[in-house]
Amino acid sequence: MGYEESVLIGGRWQAGSRGLFDVVNPATLEVVAQVSDAGVDDAIAAVDAAHAAFRGWAATAPRARADLLMKTRELMLRDAEELAQLIALENGKSLTDARGEVVYAAEFFRWFAEEAVRPHGDFGSSPAGGTRTIVTHHPVGVAALVTPWNFPAAMATRKIAPALAAGCTVVLKPAAETPLTALAVARLMAEAGVPDGVVNVVPGEDAPAIVAAWTDDPRVRKISFTGSTDVGRQLLRQAANRVMNTSMELGGNAPFIVTADADVDAAVDGAMIAKFRNGGQACTAANRFYVHADVAAEFTAKLGARVEALKVGPASEGSDIGPLISAKALANVQRVVEGALVTGARIAFQSQPATAPGHFFTPIVLTGVTSESEVVREESFAPVAPIVTWTDTEDMLDQVNSTEYGLAAYLFAGDLGAGLKLAERVEAGMIGVNRGLVSDPSAPFGGVKQSGIGREGARVGLEEYTETQYFSVAW
Ligand code: NAD
Repeated sequence: MGYEESVLIGGRWQAGSRGLFDVVNPATLEVVAQVSDAGVDDAIAAVDAAHAAFRGWAATAPRARADLLMKTRELMLRDAEELAQLIALENGKSLTDARGEVVYAAEFFRWFAEEAVRPHGDFGSSPAGGTRTIVTHHPVGVAALVTPWNFPAAMATRKIAPALAAGCTVVLKPAAETPLTALAVARLMAEAGVPDGVVNVVPGEDAPAIVAAWTDDPRVRKISFTGSTDVGRQLLRQAANRVMNTSMELGGNAPFIVTADADVDAAVDGAMIAKFRNGGQACTAANRFYVHADVAAEFTAKLGARVEALKVGPASEGSDIGPLISAKALANVQRVVEGALVTGARIAFQSQPATAPGHFFTPIVLTGVTSESEVVREESFAPVAPIVTWTDTEDMLDQVNSTEYGLAAYLFAGDLGAGLKLAERVEAGMIGVNRGLVSDPSAPFGGVKQSGIGREGARVGLEEYTETQYFSVAW
């Protein structure tokens, strides 16, 4: 409670023009907060503030900007437990996952604080002689950031940190399901000393109206979106009207490949992380398992034993797996699993069901699944591990690549050289080789095909918020 004035514009916390909306804990279905519901006028006022703050922030010395980012990280770590509890409260994920997310989210501030001060630019002579070329990079301007509910802290900091490091000011719309964590991070940024207007936060239920106000506004020069491919497509169309700079982190359908010579125990450890971290609600979540027939029985039995041991329930009960975010998400996974069962799949293993009233889906391992099944073709965003067995490498690769998505993939192989050669042929932006985790602030996170455009993290994550300018100088 106490979120009646939770729209942050120009350093001032204020009420939203549309009243309040409820934030519900998906594990208990209790309303945990009522948050200001921002409208179009608030969205525009946020741009006014970000635009007014831009010139000063862009002119602030990189070292001074970096110090503020580093300070924000320290404050996040100071309040890590409080932030983890807040994430668990509004998102439902386990406290282990929530605590891990806080550290990961804070790390973006450290990484981009370090990147902010690295010189970037170029100086050269033209091939014909007589001129010198000086290349510089400038902050793109006011950036609109739109984030999903599945990592309420990290998806925001992965955008805010590089934007501020580059000298941009931002307007952020967190997902309506999980606005509390982003608001807490914004409070910490103010405490760290980030100037008024540099970070503006506009929580609200009417996402299309808020974001359209930003894509319509010529002062907003960039939109960085993380969410579903459908909404990403829509925002690309809107951004096209003003040829806006865009970064799109969209949906995935990660394959998890196990070869005949893989270390099966290591593959099972990797699968538990790639599939069950965040209850399967990650864009990088392994969505389909392609396991070589020689090791399929052993892999399935060992994975099954681990799944049976998972504790499903509210974070407050020390669970491993929380609920899905909504009744709609639950209905969707129930439908695709039902479809698989009708066409010959079977539930080989499952956890003990939760007893709480939330949107819980009991984790399962599905066998007898075919590549045509919807549970394999579409992102299930749930703790479902469908296992497809294979013997022919080319046929397996065809199945792996026959999707419009190309975000993450995982491959476990005994022979690392052969495994890398195989991994190179997987159409994905990020591939975990003998690892079940690819997220790392120092690495370029992003997808190919309809999983997105652009990268977050690494050096390139900062470049997404800059424009290039060059000077041709008579010499
Ligand atoms: P979503 O697309 O429904 O929503 C994401 C954000 O967009 C939210 O803030 C939402 O309020 C807003 N939004 C929704 N409709 C909008 C519209 N018409 N106009 C403007 N804004 C709108 O996605 P979600 O359900 O919150 O998140 C799950 C999806 O996000 C999955 O597909 C997942 O794979 C993807 N995801 C991708 C990454 C990545 O880095 N590639 C990371 C996390 C999640």
